[in-house]
Amino acid sequence: MNAECKHLAEADAQKQPNTNGCEECLKSGDSWVHLRVCLTCGHVGCCDSSKNKHATKHFHRTKHPVVRSDEPGERWAWCYVDELFIEDLE
Ligand SMILES: [Zn+2]
Ligand SMILES: [Zn+2]
Ligand SMILES: [Zn+2]
Repeated sequence: MNAECKHLAEADAQKQPNTNGCEECLKSGDSWVHLRVCLTCGHVGCCDSSKNKHATKHFHRTKHPVVRSDEPGERWAWCYVDELFIEDLE
């Protein structure tokens, strides 16, 4: 099922988050709803339910394709390029 996404194969599922919260929101003092970690560079951004949507903005700026959830107990990832939901990240 994940075979169509070559980005995930190239991404680092063990990538550690760079910051303890959304990088841009921490700078501006904003709040967020959920966090996403970029599996290319470790950037932490807020989700699309957050007003600033920094995770999606990070993709548009950098073209880094895959993020994972940074919520405790969640193991899914999302490829922006293929718009593919990966349910169980290894
Ligand atoms: Zn992909
Ligand atoms: Zn943010
Ligand atoms: Zn990135």
